[in-house]
Amino acid sequence: MVSLIGRLVPIAPDLDSDVDPTKPPPTQGPSEFSLHRRRAVARHNGSAIAGPARCNANVTSTLLSRRDLDFLLFEWLRVDQLSKRQRFADHTTETFADVLTLSEDLAERYFAPHYKRSDADEPTFDGQAVTVNLPDIKEALKAFADAELLGMSMDEKHGGAQVPVTVATAAFMWLQAANVSTIGYPLLTLANANLLTEFGSAEQITTFVPPMLAGRFTGTMCLSEPHAGSSLTDITTRAELQDSGTYRLFGSKMWISGGDHDLTENIVHLVLAKLPGAPAGTKGISLFIVPKFLVGADGTPVERNDVVAAGLNHKMGQRGMTNVLLNFGEGTFLPGGREGAVGYLVGEPHHGLAYMFHMMNEARLVIGAAATALGYTGYLKSVEYARNRPQGRPISAKDPAAPPVPIIEHPDVKRMLLAQKSYVEGALALILYCARLTDIASSSESTEERDSATLLLDLLTPVAKSWPSQWCLEANNLAIQVHGGYGYTREYDVEQHYRDNRLNPIHEGTHGIQSLDLLGRKVGQHDGAGLRALEALIANTIGEAAALDGEPAQLAAQLGSAWHRLLDVTTTLLGSDQPDLALANSALYLEAFGHIVIGWIWLEQLVAAADRTGGFYDGKRCAARYFYRYELPKTGPQLDLLNSMDTTTVECSFDGWEA
Ligand SMILES: Cc1cc2nc3c(=O)[nH]c(=O)nc-3n(C[C@H](O)[C@H](O)[C@H](O)COP(=O)(O)OP(=O)(O)OC[C@H]3O[C@@H](n4cnc5c(N)ncnc54)[C@H](O)[C@@H]3O)c2cc1C
Repeated sequence: MVSLIGRLVPIAPDLDSDVDPTKPPPTQGPSEFSLHRRRAVARHNGSAIAGPARCNANVTSTLLSRRDLDFLLFEWLRVDQLSKRQRFADHTTETFADVLTLSEDLAERYFAPHYKRSDADEPTFDGQAVTVNLPDIKEALKAFADAELLGMSMDEKHGGAQVPVTVATAAFMWLQAANVSTIGYPLLTLANANLLTEFGSAEQITTFVPPMLAGRFTGTMCLSEPHAGSSLTDITTRAELQDSGTYRLFGSKMWISGGDHDLTENIVHLVLAKLPGAPAGTKGISLFIVPKFLVGADGTPVERNDVVAAGLNHKMGQRGMTNVLLNFGEGTFLPGGREGAVGYLVGEPHHGLAYMFHMMNEARLVIGAAATALGYTGYLKSVEYARNRPQGRPISAKDPAAPPVPIIEHPDVKRMLLAQKSYVEGALALILYCARLTDIASSSESTEERDSATLLLDLLTPVAKSWPSQWCLEANNLAIQVHGGYGYTREYDVEQHYRDNRLNPIHEGTHGIQSLDLLGRKVGQHDGAGLRALEALIANTIGEAAALDGEPAQLAAQLGSAWHRLLDVTTTLLGSDQPDLALANSALYLEAFGHIVIGWIWLEQLVAAADRTGGFYDGKRCAARYFYRYELPKTGPQLDLLNSMDTTTVECSFDGWEA
């Protein structure tokens, strides 16, 4: 049997190889990374290798931990079992491992090397066009497109490979950890393509999806306007029906990621707009495809559409990705001889926001994954730094002439590292768990199983978006602290991780909006069915941990009481006849809910590691202990405050305070 892994080029020097690991192989272009080629070989060989394998086993990456990914995917979530389902039957454990290795190699080889440069060498706008000046970005995107990874989870009928989303999510996280801006272009494009395959017409899919998957076109999502971000009810972009059946759009969209650039032949904007006479509010919003260039019958861009960049936003982080104010229909270009951006309605009029939510829910998991990846790489870099930075002596050391110890020996530094570990490994596990729910829902032949997975995913999505965005950002904060003064300089990566990560609690629905979604909608939805499904899972884990005795049983008891307290408080808040007051502290509720969910996820990991020995599993046990001793107890005072229906924030007016 031929091992596919052997076909990959190792990142690090290999004793049997004379390949320079720091450069792309001279005779081996990015096309060597093709997923489809690998699948073809796998089918040919009929390969079904039992366990995950690694080509880089001798290298410890500071992007992500492959060991942790293997533990979570293969020992905990048992993604190998997914291959028994029809949808994923084409794949083996080896294909999954192969996809992860491929992504790690792409990340190390093409995405990580220009991380700092993409921050320093920002895209520019000359008043007419946006230019991405750094060639490394285009090169990385070409390597990624050639690897055919983008659509790997999509249906085969749309050109995908039906790889489980769980595996794809883990694979993409290598690239998010390496360069969150550069991979942002394809990941937005993927969300766009997924929306079109779900709701677009056959013609729309044929015209736009294949070039997006091939890396020739990118995609955007255009929701926000200068005056309307959280409240999309108030958007004013309008769409007018033409005799031809197409539409003309007029208005401005703010903050559009990848909104303009010169990286690809075309950009496919998905734009929310209102038709004349549409119902008020979100029920009057429709969705349109507005390409930067109109596409001819042969699929190539032929005529410039009337959508133009009006300016670039200069961001705190994620600077490699353009962020654009777009004007539609201002008459700069005259497609068909007249002003107005030509657009094509997706699905039915007035259903646009529901369609867009399809994209946004997926995008929210991608944001949670990005936040996690940034937290994770910052954690690994701060562990490495702490191991190598000599400073100070143990408190009990009496001899000032004794050599200083590495800072990793100081308890306060260990505290900061343990906190990071508990956040980033907890977040990673949650993200992969949610991705697996997507796979269960898309592959299940049982309605009951599918509904249950969908309900849970719905409930957990605001947590999966917001918890990593808050706590993996805090991990980056601690990573800077571990680096001391060096962490505050641009010579080290961690300050950039923090700046890059700071976006995640803001976009795709702010932290506050996610908390309103969780408490105001998700926990009570379907008569609390999602919450009950989660409760059943938590009870099951508590039972398994209790049966193990010792520390797992103690932590199980602690989780049980936190969960019941959360349920009590939820009942109080949902039963209140003062919704304004009940929702006033929804952000606190989200935080407590998130910590309890992550407590459950840590207990799950502890159970999976129960009979295992060795440093890796000891690390898991230590981080779980840290989370239960230092973090989970924080939910007590938060739930007390919530239960008291405190009026502080509602009553304070800020009027006449002179500040
Ligand atoms: C770098 C970047 C990239 C982005 N990319 C895109 C993109 O590709 N496409 C796109 O359409 N948009 C994009 N956005 C826009 C982003 O989604 C919005 O910034 C976000 O939704 C918040 O909207 P806003 O900025 O108008 O803030 P506002 O909505 O004005 O919110 C300001 C503050 O008020 C709070 N707030 C608002 N309403 C309420 C309420 N009802 N209750 C409680 N608190 C409330 C918010 O939580 C926030 O803290 C991007 C933004 C940035 C910064």
